[in-house]
Amino acid sequence: MGQAAGRAVVLGASMAGLLTARVLSEFYDQVTVVDRDAMPPGIGHRRGVPQGHHVHALLARGAQVLDDLFPGLTAEVIDAGAPSGDLLGGIRWLLSGHRIRRVDIGQPVLFPSRPLLEGRVRARVLALPGVRIVARHDIVGLTSTADHRAVTGVSVRGEDGEVTTIPADLVVDASGRGSRTPLWLEEMGYQRPPVDKIHIGVGYSSRPYRLPPDALGTDRLILLNWTPEHPRAAAVAAQEDGRFLVTLAGMLGDHPPTDPGEFLSFAAGLPFDDVHRVIRDGEPLGDPVGFQYPANVRRRYERLSHFPDRLLVLGDAICGFNPIYGQGMTVAALEAATLRRLLSGGRPITWQRYFKAVADVIDVPWGIATGTDLAFPGVQGRRTAKVRMVNAYLPRLHAAAATDPTLAAAFVRVTGLLDRPEGLLRPDRLLRVFRGLRTR
Ligand SMILES: Cc1cc2nc3c(=O)[nH]c(=O)nc-3n(C[C@H](O)[C@H](O)[C@H](O)COP(=O)(O)OP(=O)(O)OC[C@H]3O[C@@H](n4cnc5c(N)ncnc54)[C@H](O)[C@@H]3O)c2cc1C
Repeated sequence: MGQAAGRAVVLGASMAGLLTARVLSEFYDQVTVVDRDAMPPGIGHRRGVPQGHHVHALLARGAQVLDDLFPGLTAEVIDAGAPSGDLLGGIRWLLSGHRIRRVDIGQPVLFPSRPLLEGRVRARVLALPGVRIVARHDIVGLTSTADHRAVTGVSVRGEDGEVTTIPADLVVDASGRGSRTPLWLEEMGYQRPPVDKIHIGVGYSSRPYRLPPDALGTDRLILLNWTPEHPRAAAVAAQEDGRFLVTLAGMLGDHPPTDPGEFLSFAAGLPFDDVHRVIRDGEPLGDPVGFQYPANVRRRYERLSHFPDRLLVLGDAICGFNPIYGQGMTVAALEAATLRRLLSGGRPITWQRYFKAVADVIDVPWGIATGTDLAFPGVQGRRTAKVRMVNAYLPRLHAAAATDPTLAAAFVRVTGLLDRPEGLLRPDRLLRVFRGLRTR
């Protein structure tokens, strides 16, 4: 795969595809992004992103990367009304049965709805020279050289049923969890990538509400995590249009109801009454919308020994995480930043270097998501000594973080993917946890 070539095609115009297009526009004369959906002219839901109806947190690290790719984007999103606040001081963290100590730590975060964020990113991408979105086109397959050593383009089907080919010097598959690259590889005579899969059986149910503007006090977001004893979680997020979005979630088949009458009862059964208290007198602005997320899935392209040239994969198409940890958009942004670094490096980018570098990006968030999920006895998977030790330690850290702002800050920075998780095990932090527990 060469450096700057002529035409690149990106499969999927969701967050991963848009961020990929932004990066490729620096290196390719033409970048075509294909999606089966019609693109809303401004801010709006679309079928291909059903997750947009649920609380969608942009992690602190993700906001930094977005601002690198699109200078001033987060300020623009805040100007458009997205609530913002401090990562610790502006969020009510309810973790492992503890109310985490709140104090401003100087780390801003913003809380846009998914349609607002994606709409603003899409507008920025469409303003780039050489970039276009081909909407309402279904991606049918790849075209390749006769020996299948290299991909040469993409076949797409328009709404009239006509199939055409878009030639490409590079194709990046950002078509999400349903990516068909594994199937296409097989059809071209390659192996499918090995897959790591951890079943979690997560269900979401979300409902918009009209609440008093000060319903959350000074907070912008309530985050109540689940524990093995209470496998139910919830979030309430202030949104840019003055509404509040309430998401209820459950693990391992204990799914929240989409029946309007039962939504409130599920909230009433949560281990803290914060969510139920704010919504019980609120005005629902629509029926609850459900979503099921069966498993964390990681496709290990970096382990393949053969792969066609001029094809890469990015975003959920490589790795999809339990959504409760809010990592997907941030990891897609980090992967896009990795692609940019490799393309800028002066050396030709090969699929081996790309997938190896992306695997390094995924390792930490994958470890956080699957490690935390393995705290649930019903989740099947290998529990290394480290996973068992961390899962025994974290509830203790949360207990100590109820009064210790240093520990609270250290923890939320790790969940925001700003710091590596190993830092939570530093001797000074272990000591604080131990002292905190003794005091309690
Ligand atoms: C319930 C839920 C909650 C989530 N919450 C968060 C959160 O709080 N924070 C966070 O960062 N992430 C969250 N995520 C993950 C996040 O939404 C994704 O990681 C993010 O959208 C990046 O995904 P993607 O662009 O790779 O794929 P997707 O967002 O799945 O987009 C794939 C795109 O490809 C298009 N497409 C697919 N197949 C075809 C085809 N054959 N032809 C044409 N077009 C096609 C689709 O229309 C779509 O536009 C959540 C996910 C879910 C499911």
